[in-house]
Amino acid sequence: MKTIKELDIDGKRVFIRCDFNVPKDEFGNITDDRRIREALQTIRYCVDRGCKIILGSHFERPEPGMYEEKYSLEAVYRRLDVLLKIKNRLLFDDSKTGAVVTEKAKVLADSLETGDVLLLENLRFDAGETNNDALFAKALAGMVDIYINDAFGACHRKHASIYAMAEEFDKDAKGAGFLLSKEVNFFSRVLENPTKPFVAVVGGSKVSGKLQALTKLLDKVDKVIVGGGMAFTFLKAMGYEIGNSLVENDLLDEATSIMKKAQEKNVKFYLPVDVVAAPEFSENSTVKYFPTQEIPADWMGLDIGPASSRLFREVLNDAQTIIWNGPMGVYEMDKFAKGSTKMSHYIAETHATTIVGGGDTADVAARAGDVDEMTFVSTGGGASLKLLEGKVLPGIEALKE
Ligand code: AMP
Repeated sequence: MKTIKELDIDGKRVFIRCDFNVPKDEFGNITDDRRIREALQTIRYCVDRGCKIILGSHFERPEPGMYEEKYSLEAVYRRLDVLLKIKNRLLFDDSKTGAVVTEKAKVLADSLETGDVLLLENLRFDAGETNNDALFAKALAGMVDIYINDAFGACHRKHASIYAMAEEFDKDAKGAGFLLSKEVNFFSRVLENPTKPFVAVVGGSKVSGKLQALTKLLDKVDKVIVGGGMAFTFLKAMGYEIGNSLVENDLLDEATSIMKKAQEKNVKFYLPVDVVAAPEFSENSTVKYFPTQEIPADWMGLDIGPASSRLFREVLNDAQTIIWNGPMGVYEMDKFAKGSTKMSHYIAETHATTIVGGGDTADVAARAGDVDEMTFVSTGGGASLKLLEGKVLPGIEALKE
């Protein structure tokens, strides 16, 4: 695939598919604007080349065809305005219609002058986005001469702005933005030639989402640390009482076979030895520590305990490469955030090449103040998992010559 630097974009109309799917708090405030900041390099490059720029991004999963304030990109627009700091205009389609290529968007697009930037509304307001609809793709493509994909976090989805739209352009008119090129190069380099010991730290809510990546990683890593809600499926598969903790009962056999495969391959497989548990899923709930073998039947584990944190720190001590995907607990609630925060500190403290993947995990590292200490923080969780699974991402396939 071509990178933006290999394309002749000077003075042209350019669409940049960004990933502005940033985390927000319950009041709609952006809690981590890393994804916006990381998009700036490509946008500024286009501004410097005298382009007329149209930005598109999805945000979460709105009901298609309906405007809902909480899914609007307006907060992103405001933050972008602060960060972009260009003397040209940054425009936003605020027609609130629940569509994307609206009459207003077309008028604004036509009014773009050299160096101006237009941000479209949430691409998923149009049902055509998630359906990879050709008409929607053509409507977007019709607004520009050049297509740039800089949305690594969305590349694993065959959506209109990622796939069908890219197919509307010939090879000299489409390419990867700086962020996308960096992410793909980084992951391939580490996965092809990691310095050992190579440790994978996985967490988050479900085994199902990470099953394939976990299986594939067993061929490459020396150690695996499992935390978060997904640990309970493994603990239950080992026969422990896990109370009301999150579990995927249909994956108990898979969990057993992963642990067996790890043993056969001499990959050290570490699970939490204690948990922070509560009788209910609430910040106001009573909280106690239990060894994982002693979780009462009506309690649920919501974070790894202090003994697990110490154990995992020991395990990370000699690591030379670490991949981390998924928090160790329900880090959104302060009471259950310690395990994830400590994990972030421990990973940041090592001398290893450290790769943090995923919106939640990047959020944990940011809250812990460790982002600058990590070698690389990837903005795309799902996409990085797909790369770990060894899959070709649709967004990258569509850019190929
Ligand atoms: P994922 O999207 O699979 O990476 O999962 C991230 C989510 O997992 C976060 O929102 C956490 O709150 C959640 N999580 C982590 N540990 C637990 C746990 N022990 N029980 C329930 N949810 C958890």
